[in-house]
Formats: sequence, structure tokens, C-alpha cells
Amino acid sequence: MSDKIKIEENCVASVHYTGTLPESGEVFDSSEGRDPLTFLVGHKQMIPGFEANLMGKTTGDRVEFTLEADDAYGQIDAEAIMKIERTNFTDLEQQAPLEVGMQLVAQMPHGPAPFIVTELTDDSVTADFNHALAGKSLTFSVEVVEVRTASDEELAHGHAHGPGGHHH
Ligand code: ZN
Repeated sequence: MSDKIKIEENCVASVHYTGTLPESGEVFDSSEGRDPLTFLVGHKQMIPGFEANLMGKTTGDRVEFTLEADDAYGQIDAEAIMKIERTNFTDLEQQAPLEVGMQLVAQMPHGPAPFIVTELTDDSVTADFNHALAGKSLTFSVEVVEVRTASDEELAHGHAHGPGGHHH
């Protein structure tokens, strides 16, 4: 008997996926050409809607679904867009000119925080700390490559350990 395990909480799923923006069809991320994405289900490793659409699926299944922003990276938070005095960037500007669209990383008390420069004036830099995919609907095409039970160690750590359950 080779009962296939179905995806449920506390199992480890490996999937190949391609994420596209439904309006333009632009691919924003894909595991193609890489190892499949392996994650421990039910431990907030993935965006919520991604796991929800894979529940009950098993090895070999293919699914496609579109998530609203609330089930993906959330809505754009206006408070995460900040105007910073340009003088704070003086050191940086000596190495490279600032440009709109540039991605930079701020060192915050809780750790590094990436942001995108969305506006520049002589005195200020507008920094958008929202996730680049916030506010967007996302379409995922997913193929389930493997489903297995999680090891005790994986459950204790709250994340998956590579294809065979070994520590990374
Ligand atoms: Zn670990």
C-alpha cells in the first residue's frame, strides 16, 4: 500500500510554483530551475492563502489560484511610507546617486528593513517600507512535488529541514 499523504497542518510540503500578477501576467517569482520550495505547513512560513489552497492536495497534484491582497502580502500601509530628511543619505550619496525605484535597506532597532525610494526632492527622500507585493492580487500555479510527515526536530523548530528532513 502506498497511501499518499495529503497536505495538512504539520506536514512538510515541497512544491514548484510560478507566481504571476493576474492583470499583466508578469512573473514575479518562480521556483523553475531551482530546488522546489519546501515548507512546514501551518507554521506561518508561507503567506496564508498559499497554504489554504494546497490543503488536501497530494504529490503530483497541480493547482492554480488567485489570492486577494489580504490573503497574500496585505494591503498597502500608508504609515509605512515615510519622508526622511535627505541629509541622512549624505554618506550613501557619496558612493552612489539616489534614484527613484532604488531598493535600499535601513538598519532599524529590530533589524534590517528594506524599502524602495518612491520620491526624491532636494530635501527629502520618500521611502516605502511596504512589501513590494503589498496591495496586489497574486496568481500562483503550483505543482506538488512531495508531501511527507515532519520530523520531531522540524516541528520543534517550526520550519522544514531540506528535502530529506536534514538540518540546513
Ligand atoms: Zn531548524
